[in-house]
Amino acid sequence: MSKLIDGEKLAAPLCNAIEERLAPLRQRQGITPGLAVVLVGGDSASERYVRKKQVRAEAIGMNSFVHRLADSVNNRALLTLIEQLNHDPQVHGILVQLPLPPQIDASRVIRAIHPDKDVDGFHPLNAGLMATHGNALIPCTPLGCLMLLEHHHGDLSGQRAVVLGRSNIVGKPMAHLLLRQHCTVTIAHSRTQDLAALCRQADILVAAVGRPRLVTGDWIKPGATVIDVGINRIESDGRTRLVGDVDFVTASEVAGAITPVPGGVGPMTIACLMLNTLRATCRQHDIPVAD
Ligand code: NDP
Repeated sequence: MSKLIDGEKLAAPLCNAIEERLAPLRQRQGITPGLAVVLVGGDSASERYVRKKQVRAEAIGMNSFVHRLADSVNNRALLTLIEQLNHDPQVHGILVQLPLPPQIDASRVIRAIHPDKDVDGFHPLNAGLMATHGNALIPCTPLGCLMLLEHHHGDLSGQRAVVLGRSNIVGKPMAHLLLRQHCTVTIAHSRTQDLAALCRQADILVAAVGRPRLVTGDWIKPGATVIDVGINRIESDGRTRLVGDVDFVTASEVAGAITPVPGGVGPMTIACLMLNTLRATCRQHDIPVAD
């Protein structure tokens, strides 16, 4: 059986460390980091994610502002709200919960967020800075995955990594982060041929495809480290269950270590959002932040 990489266990001390940094910020500088989350429509999964972010931000002593907009909102109204948040001194981080309804131009919305407040790290300036090893705000999910990997592995240098998925929010930034850590990285996607054989070469396998249990034990190199980003809701025995992109039962017989779903990447994503909000706050006030 493989070792379980427990996201809750790593997220808790990270959140505690962030909370400890907030007290001197508040007392000496009179600054309380503020996170604004924009939620469009009433998608139940998005509602749940936003609630988790709000609860965590408030629990560690940040200000949290949730802006709810109707599903029918137009581009102009959403861009006006973002402009207001860009200029609001109480708001240090802005996150627009994805996905957005089809009438909204999501890439325009992302570009409208001030890069210094872009705590999701999706703005092209932050994406470019990350790709060129600059001082970027890094997307929370890949950052959390990297922390889990480093915690488990230590030095990642020279490892063969395969990232399944090439989205701008998970796959591509994950690949860049692994490359920065001197892994040899392959990105796979829906047109990749013989995915199973490719995955079997990986010392590190990150699955971010949104396909329930796509990766089975026979796709995994014995002893490999498997990070399962997927969050898929499936109906089983008359109830809804959360499963990852990896078939945990067969994969855990082969992998050296594996993240569970839930309880793996998810808690780290939220902890990294808190970290990015702290970093954004410090950057906006020219205060050095200990990493
Ligand atoms: P996207 O749908 O944006 O991207 C999915 C990627 O997977 C695409 O690149 C697609 O390829 C590829 N893909 C789809 N099907 C296959 C297949 N059969 N074989 C190989 N590649 C395939 O998803 P996201 O990146 O946004 O999210 C991925 C998963 O991670 C989802 O389950 C999502 O819910 C979860 N997630 C979890 C988070 C967390 O905090 N734990 C945060 C964010 C996402 P192509 O480009 O060719 O279409």
